[in-house]
Amino acid sequence: MAATPQKQSFDYIIVGAGSAGCVLANRLTASGRHRVLLLEAGGHDRHMWIHIPLGFAKLFDNPKVNWLYASEPEPELNNRQIIQPRGKVLGGSSSINGLLYIRGQKQDYDHWRQLGNAGWAFEDVLPYFKRAEDQERGADDLHGVGGPLCVSNVCEPHPLCEAFIEAAEQSGIPRNDDFNGPAQEGAGYFQLTTKNGRRWSTAAGYLRQARKRPNLTVELNALATRILFSGRRAGGVEYRQGETTRTAYADGEVILAGGAFNSPQLLQLSGLGPAELLRAHGIEVIADMPGVGADLQDHLQVRMQFRCTEPITMNDVVNDWRHRYGAGLRYILSRKGLLSIGAGYAGAFLRTRPDLDSPDVQIHFLIFSTETAGAKLHPFSGFMASVCQLRPESRGFVRIKSGDPAAAPAIQPRYLSSRTDCATIVAGLNKLRQIMNRPVMRRLIAEERMPGPACVTDADLLAYARKTGTTVYHPTSTCRMGSDPAAVVDERLRVRGFERLRVVDASIMPTLVSGNTNAAAVMIGEKGADMILQDARASAPVAISA
Ligand SMILES: Cc1cc2nc3c(=O)[nH]c(=O)nc-3n(C[C@H](O)[C@H](O)[C@H](O)COP(=O)(O)OP(=O)(O)OC[C@H]3O[C@@H](n4cnc5c(N)ncnc54)[C@H](O)[C@@H]3O)c2cc1C
Repeated sequence: MAATPQKQSFDYIIVGAGSAGCVLANRLTASGRHRVLLLEAGGHDRHMWIHIPLGFAKLFDNPKVNWLYASEPEPELNNRQIIQPRGKVLGGSSSINGLLYIRGQKQDYDHWRQLGNAGWAFEDVLPYFKRAEDQERGADDLHGVGGPLCVSNVCEPHPLCEAFIEAAEQSGIPRNDDFNGPAQEGAGYFQLTTKNGRRWSTAAGYLRQARKRPNLTVELNALATRILFSGRRAGGVEYRQGETTRTAYADGEVILAGGAFNSPQLLQLSGLGPAELLRAHGIEVIADMPGVGADLQDHLQVRMQFRCTEPITMNDVVNDWRHRYGAGLRYILSRKGLLSIGAGYAGAFLRTRPDLDSPDVQIHFLIFSTETAGAKLHPFSGFMASVCQLRPESRGFVRIKSGDPAAAPAIQPRYLSSRTDCATIVAGLNKLRQIMNRPVMRRLIAEERMPGPACVTDADLLAYARKTGTTVYHPTSTCRMGSDPAAVVDERLRVRGFERLRVVDASIMPTLVSGNTNAAAVMIGEKGADMILQDARASAPVAISA
């Protein structure tokens, strides 16, 4: 590979133009005072299916926009390898995700604070959620308007969703019109990060505007391969673009925003990580940090599939060319209809035990059915609902498998390796079955296809979870924030023991939040940017007047 010596110098270098990276690029360039380089391993976000919400299902196996990772064989899931899609494109995973807008629970952030992370309680992070948000329903104590991230209602109610919500109500789960409102518990419709029926990734919301600024340089198809250090101070990044290796220098900071798989990978490739692992791959150890890549957490989901008695599912639309063209035409003319929906139409947050303070399970209710994620819809009327445990105890890891920066790391979430996780998933499946057995729902069910009537006991349900469970695509915590020896970053997201190096993305979450993780990643980008700018102001030389 040709090494081209080209000295490029900036104030900040951001690695990764994903959910958090695009927020950083916007906020750090807004004053015009800082020169920022944004490195993105993927390319432009021009692919048609990125912008049409339902198109997320077409991006699961597209190497042009997706890293297409897979886990190592999962011991508690019958040694199955679980797909681990990640966005590799401007907007990162916010360009390929299921668009649901959920912040999590107040308790999640208060817990982060209780773990010792000053400045991360709910009252501290709420202003950043609000600053990011452009809420279609207007502003109130918990919501903001005028921010770069558009949050919209689903375009119209659906009879299957209405039945599901009513059945949940009859099961003691209240109707909830705002999962990001005062209480998360309940059943209702999800809101989406869309604007006028189009996906609103952070590339659309934050980066598009920032790219007009002369102080932002964006390099596409640029894979950061190593952080450059002078002692314990980060000074630049080496990256590959095509056949060329380039070096960029940062007078201010290097900020990693590569996401929960790639940020720990880049730290390990750069000599920060478990010493034995690094040595095994011929990497010089700068700091023995066992926490880098440890503590991987993810949401496991287990789906139930149903055959529907009425032709009102999305399968019926997609499998009939007249309906399909009708839906396409409707979307073109009004940006409404089936093409404008995300990964879940309706859903619920519920407690599997009455003694719990807050919901421990999320249900995604989908008005279509497939065998696996991204596969063809079934040729019959069908729908699905999945159970996901919100705060898993299972912990896994991300570890490099080679010193080659282009090689995928080993990813192992170790789903269901905790007894509590097994019990919660089973309890959630039992709750979901109770909802589905309410008459208002049962009249729409011709057959429970999976797990099916032969699956009766808790042991059967656990075996089913092990056989079919898969990810909801929410990996976090591999560069965990904290003050204990295994924590990777401190509460200002600075890599512990290093200068001028931060991680600002989903990997810093001390624990998974109770919901879908994009909103939290955007919040982390907003708060991270503020901290970087505050620290820059604090260290700026003070002008002395004569
Ligand atoms: C299929 C799918 C569905 C999802 N559905 C939802 C949902 O409905 N709602 C929700 O809230 N969340 C959802 N999520 C999760 C959510 O999108 C992520 O948690 C969030 O986007 C993570 O943000 P991030 O900034 O940490 O990383 P990312 O957004 O993944 O960004 C990382 C970026 O860094 C780039 N990068 C990585 N390494 C390098 C390198 N070495 N050099 C240069 N660039 C690099 C990547 O290409 C990427 O663009 C989903 C995710 C997926 C994949």
